[in-house]
Amino acid sequence: MAHVAQGEKEDIDRAVRAARRTFDSGPWHTMTPSMRGRLLNKLADLAEQHSEEFAQLESLDNGKPLSVARAADVPLAIDMFCYMAGWATKIEGNTIPMSFPGQYFAYTLREPVGVVGQIIPWNFPLLMAAWKLAPALAVGCTSILKPAQQTPLSALRLGELIMEAGFPAGVVNIVTGFGSGAGAPLAAHPAVDKIAFTGSTEVGKMILQAAAGNLKKVSLELGGKAPNIVLKDMDVQTAIAGAAHAIFFNQGQVCCAGSRLYVEKGVFDQVVEGVAEHTKKIKIGSGFDPSVTMGPLVSDEQLSRVTGYLQLGMSEGAKSLAGGQRYGDHGYFVEPTVLVSTNQNMRVVREEIFGPVVVAQPFDDLDEILSLANDTVFGLSAGIWTRDISKAHRIAAQLKAGTVWINCYNVFDAALPFGGYKQSGWGREMGHAVLESYTEVKSVCIGL
Ligand code: ADP
Repeated sequence: MAHVAQGEKEDIDRAVRAARRTFDSGPWHTMTPSMRGRLLNKLADLAEQHSEEFAQLESLDNGKPLSVARAADVPLAIDMFCYMAGWATKIEGNTIPMSFPGQYFAYTLREPVGVVGQIIPWNFPLLMAAWKLAPALAVGCTSILKPAQQTPLSALRLGELIMEAGFPAGVVNIVTGFGSGAGAPLAAHPAVDKIAFTGSTEVGKMILQAAAGNLKKVSLELGGKAPNIVLKDMDVQTAIAGAAHAIFFNQGQVCCAGSRLYVEKGVFDQVVEGVAEHTKKIKIGSGFDPSVTMGPLVSDEQLSRVTGYLQLGMSEGAKSLAGGQRYGDHGYFVEPTVLVSTNQNMRVVREEIFGPVVVAQPFDDLDEILSLANDTVFGLSAGIWTRDISKAHRIAAQLKAGTVWINCYNVFDAALPFGGYKQSGWGREMGHAVLESYTEVKSVCIGL
């Protein structure tokens, strides 16, 4: 489909030098916040003018249905640039009332953290680029962005639009390449002030070690194994549709996917059979076929990983109510799968599969569901389906997860922070929360 440069350590070095120069002494350094905001708005406008092209690139590169890229990836990415454009002029400090003996005038400044390395995954390539670049640029950082080796095309096109919008040279530096060849030297680079990473928990831990050399700041958005909880008071059809969407959206290649379905006893059979029945309505095929609702997984490696977990689940004693294997004999398609007869000790319940596979278990009461739901090393997201507003809030308060969706799922907004508890990450993306991770606070104290 396309040939893409394989960036290596020296390319990362060159990109870091350019970002450093532009941050320390280049035009970015002196540009007004208003101008930074205008550039971000201009980029959003240009991206909007090229929406269809981006949607097609995303579908071609990742495999996702074109309709999904049109409805989710592209508009959310554009909105992220618009939202952050507004923040560029609102990065403020405080005046601080001092109690130290004497008289002082003290205030804080919020300054850009500096040169940031940003490493992103392949599941939402353009959107992840937007989540990373938009806040960094709004506050005045310069960036070296490394897209995933599986899906570099939309980031490269975005780079062209960044030039067209008029961002000064060196502000955004996109280096394509593999994790070991380009990602690792970026994470370790001594002239990088911060690394922002989205990907697997395993690689997140490697990033952390690489960052230790110069103690660069680190933010991480990692894996998940989200509990999606259905209470028996809920309208069953709504819960079924919600549970199916929570796991099957984007072929299940979503870090916040509702991959552990817990259903209150009394409606368990009805709900899981409903989700199994729902899989028959999912049309699998090319992302460019308008009737298709589930595309292929991103790669051969991902296909082996997901089918490996399916075999493992069966060998652990799980039963499939729907799916359970590869779909067809060519391409990277996997059947949407519902596994029952599962328990908390199984690896398919404990580990992130990152495919269209949900594991389901019944529960008795609130105490039990809270302990099941929180029995995981992850803490990115969770879902609750109930009409009981009191139970909904009580459960939400006790879940160890960065996002809790009640009677909805996979709802994202540039203004709504997103990130993980426990091994799902450090820091938050989006909202004003993300601005903290791209800024330093400077305290200035003046004796009067
Ligand atoms: P997945 O398991 O979903 O493919 P990864 O965590 O392996 O996700 O990859 C996410 C991003 O991290 C990609 O851009 C990849 O190239 C990059 N990456 C992988 N390994 C490393 C590494 N050791 N150091 C830095 N970046 C890496």
